[in-house]
Amino acid sequence: MKTGAQFLEDMSHSRKEVHLMGQKVEQPTQNPILAPSFRTLALTYDLSFDPQAQSLAVRQGPQGPINAFCSIHSGLEDLVSKVQLLRLLGQKTGSCFQRCVGWDALNALYSVTYDIDSRTGSNYHQRFRQFLAQVQNDDLVCTGAMTDVKGNRSLRPGEQADPDLYLHVVKQTREGVVVRGAKAHQTGSVFAHEVIVMPTRAMLDSEREYAIAFAVPSDSAGLVYIVGRQVDDARRLEGTEGVGNDLYGGHESLIVFDDVFVPRDRIFLNGETSYVSSLVERFSAYHRQSYGGCKVGVADVLIGATALAAEYNGTDRAHTIQHKLAEMVYLNETLYSCGLACSTAGTATPSGNFLVDPLLANVCKLNVTRFPYEIARLAVDIAGGLIATLPSQEELENPRTGPMIDKYLRGVAKYPTADRIRILHLIESMTMGNSAVHYLTESLHGAGSPEAQTMMIGRSADLEQKKDLARALAHISQKP
Ligand code: SF4
Ligand code: FE
Repeated sequence: MKTGAQFLEDMSHSRKEVHLMGQKVEQPTQNPILAPSFRTLALTYDLSFDPQAQSLAVRQGPQGPINAFCSIHSGLEDLVSKVQLLRLLGQKTGSCFQRCVGWDALNALYSVTYDIDSRTGSNYHQRFRQFLAQVQNDDLVCTGAMTDVKGNRSLRPGEQADPDLYLHVVKQTREGVVVRGAKAHQTGSVFAHEVIVMPTRAMLDSEREYAIAFAVPSDSAGLVYIVGRQVDDARRLEGTEGVGNDLYGGHESLIVFDDVFVPRDRIFLNGETSYVSSLVERFSAYHRQSYGGCKVGVADVLIGATALAAEYNGTDRAHTIQHKLAEMVYLNETLYSCGLACSTAGTATPSGNFLVDPLLANVCKLNVTRFPYEIARLAVDIAGGLIATLPSQEELENPRTGPMIDKYLRGVAKYPTADRIRILHLIESMTMGNSAVHYLTESLHGAGSPEAQTMMIGRSADLEQKKDLARALAHISQKP
């Protein structure tokens, strides 16, 4: 297993083509906007050397201990410990820590490649296991690239004005394939060693060239990363004050595949359209489970910050504030319960690894599209309007305005004004700044937007069985 420092060393040698705010970034590890993301990923390594976290962060691999993020779930207790690990990391970072997407992709491909081989006689699973062994031995970060840019949403992949709006194979050779397209919103991609690509939706037989799954090193020729802008990037350039969470953060990018060559031994699905939907559904189920851990940990930080703001404001004893804090906890623990429930109701796949219960994982994620917004609303309610009108932190150092800020923005006398400002900045960041990208927008759209979960819930619900239950109690014997 690697340490965080070894991971950063790896990344300093990467030749990825990264663009940020109109400029090519020559040394991403040194960039002040990207630095919090590198620290977040580094923590996923360092945690495996932390005696307090090792029971969650380290797992037994085929040849010895491995980082949990590279592991295959071999039982229900693994699924549960994943949710616990993600909550812990959310608590420590207050952010998206970006390594779970790849973990979820590894577990989805493990079982789906096995299913394809057992029915078609292909050797995808063997290839995949070779790739997995490399990921485990070298302790690699993988990103899971699923979301195509999709162009006109009312048209299927093959019907788009531009065929590249869904990633597809443009050339097949004996050595491999060449792919072209783009994947949007790719969490952690700039900080990954490997990019694992999967189709974004079920494909028709006529869409075989869009049914492709593979892994390539993240600095392969033709891969271009265009980093998403976040609300207060500029504050990171100003220095640490006022950022809210200056230590940790996360970034997404648009990954363009500009005719990227994929060698044959890195292809895990190529034209088998009938297996695409199970790959999409299994990956989505794992990633929707993940949110019942990571977002819960992030909210633990927000609830703590809100309780501190109440203390600094002198409102912490008020019954209504205590009631609202309890409401925040109830909403958050409901999400955790969903994460645990879909894990304990998981089942073994034919390949031997374990899959979460898909219906409960979708319920988990659908709740995550809603409850964090209410938790954030309560945080802003308790913190007060000052989070939106706070003068710049630098005023505290201004000899003219500093004493005024210190005097007039003090709440309860015993707490320094600077501390009150820091906590308000943290809440500001988590509810409307950089951290809100991951606490709110990502809760809504990450791992699929709410409609995708509602659709899956509708599809998995056995309404006929429920109708039978009702008929039995209502003494109705006739079925239409
Ligand atoms: Fe991991 Fe959560 Fe970020 Fe997804 S949103 S990568 S599950 S931390
Ligand atoms: Fe995500």
